[in-house]
Amino acid sequence: VESENTLLRIEGLTKTFGSFTAVDGVDLSVPDGELHSIIGPNGAGKTTLFNMIAGSLRPTAGTIHFRGTDITAVDQDERARRGVSRAFQITQLFPGVTVHENLRLAAQADNQRFNPLATRNPDHDERARGMLDDLDVDARPDEVAANLSHGDKKKLEIGMALVSEPTLLLLDEPTSGVAEAELPALLEFLTDAVTDLTVLLIEHDVDLVLELSDRITVLDRGEVIARGDPEDIVANERVQNAYMGG
Ligand code: ADP
Repeated sequence: VESENTLLRIEGLTKTFGSFTAVDGVDLSVPDGELHSIIGPNGAGKTTLFNMIAGSLRPTAGTIHFRGTDITAVDQDERARRGVSRAFQITQLFPGVTVHENLRLAAQADNQRFNPLATRNPDHDERARGMLDDLDVDARPDEVAANLSHGDKKKLEIGMALVSEPTLLLLDEPTSGVAEAELPALLEFLTDAVTDLTVLLIEHDVDLVLELSDRITVLDRGEVIARGDPEDIVANERVQNAYMGG
């Protein structure tokens, strides 16, 4: 039974590459406000599933509904316009441009495409400044992004996704490559940033996933092998076996 506050609903989502099935008939419903994590061993199909939700990869079969509308055939840019936003990757930051300007460009980006020629909008300046305060990066606003620590770059990435004011935020490995010492600050920021949002998270740090998630879906070889709240997942035998390569 579909609840009224379902934001994202995926049914029978499948992706094959040649004769290989990377994602095999995955169902998933994410209600408004939930932080839902996708975990699973390497090669489980997490990235492939994520790419289909973001719209960068076309499913072989199955459907994706967002706010009750079928978006399966809607392209990535249009999905972003409708509020499905993927966090920027560090590779998408302008390294030679200041932190503030990166945020401002992200705020005014039309579906995550930077357009430096777009008319300057005071509202975007405002949002960039507000986000800069929230980010609490160890740098001045006029510091160029290239000079930030890796942890601060990850914060900036997430901040850039947030200034576009998404309804559904897709976060792919937000802690990857972040030094141990920088993790607590990143975590604190992440926890604050996502409180009012619906988030789909891929993250290999299981402890972090258990701490942040409302619910977790576990994939193994393209299939959902478990779903539940963190306590269910920790106690699940199939999950333990999957992680031990069983
Ligand atoms: P995960 O993110 O869980 O590690 P992926 O979604 O990256 O898993 O990959 C799932 C499986 O699909 C892997 O076996 C991978 O080799 C395969 N795969 C992913 N993308 C492609 C592709 N473009 N062509 C062929 N096989 C792919």
